[in-house]
Amino acid sequence: MQIGAYKLTSLVTSTFALDGGAMFGVVPKTLWSKQVEVDDLNRIDMVTRTLLLESKDKKILIDTGNGDKWKPRHKEIFKIELDPYILPQSLAAHGVSVDDITDVICTHLHFDHVGGNTKMEDGKVVPVFPNAKYWVQSENWKLANSPSEKDRASYLAENWTVLAENGMLQILNSERELFDDIKLEIVHGHTLGQQLPIISDGSSTLIYGADLFPMKAHIPIPWVMAYDNEPMRSIAEKKRILPDLLEKDAIIFFEHDPRTIACKLRSSEKGIFGGEDIII
Ligand SMILES: [Zn+2]
Repeated sequence: MQIGAYKLTSLVTSTFALDGGAMFGVVPKTLWSKQVEVDDLNRIDMVTRTLLLESKDKKILIDTGNGDKWKPRHKEIFKIELDPYILPQSLAAHGVSVDDITDVICTHLHFDHVGGNTKMEDGKVVPVFPNAKYWVQSENWKLANSPSEKDRASYLAENWTVLAENGMLQILNSERELFDDIKLEIVHGHTLGQQLPIISDGSSTLIYGADLFPMKAHIPIPWVMAYDNEPMRSIAEKKRILPDLLEKDAIIFFEHDPRTIACKLRSSEKGIFGGEDIII
């Protein structure tokens, strides 16, 4: 798919699983279990899905998935499987090397979004993309470095400390224009300072759903995650953003949906829902 200056390629970087109840907040299991697969530990199968954007002078990644710095115990809790999805290998299969990546847009610093920013090499944590600038919002950067008790387990400093030490982090202060044809929608309900990239050339528009729209089932307004720090704020953000996306006939890209890469929206008298699936 091409939008404006960018060729878009979607890359799954891992499979994992999270508690189904936590993923759907107050929505009863009788409803959400019709939309997703659930295992005997009540976990639902998910993926981490990165978007590669290639233009003449940039190769940009949006989020980098769980990465491979996991201890066996945590891999088991979250059912993390990395083979055959190792990001540098997937990039190589598309003719892109880790050295070619110019920018990594970090939607937020939770481990399932930025675990692939860094890797272990000879017992040391090093950047995976040595020539990249890593972009994050200042509110999220501050929170990640002094998280609340609620989301402390999701912010792992091994995913960014070496980037800060090497001067590779670019901290944004609510800027909404990042590059040509790439704007940022900034939302705070899931965690402070989450940025959702919007790629648009005026006629085609795609928004990277990150953890505001992690799966197609999360499009209806009340379907928000129990992981969200401020669920009512997430609901207000969805109410604000969805009508605009519908009017633009935009595509929503899903970082965590194992079955649906992206979709359009449709509306009925009951609200706005996921529409036609789109393959990227
Ligand atoms: Zn998150």
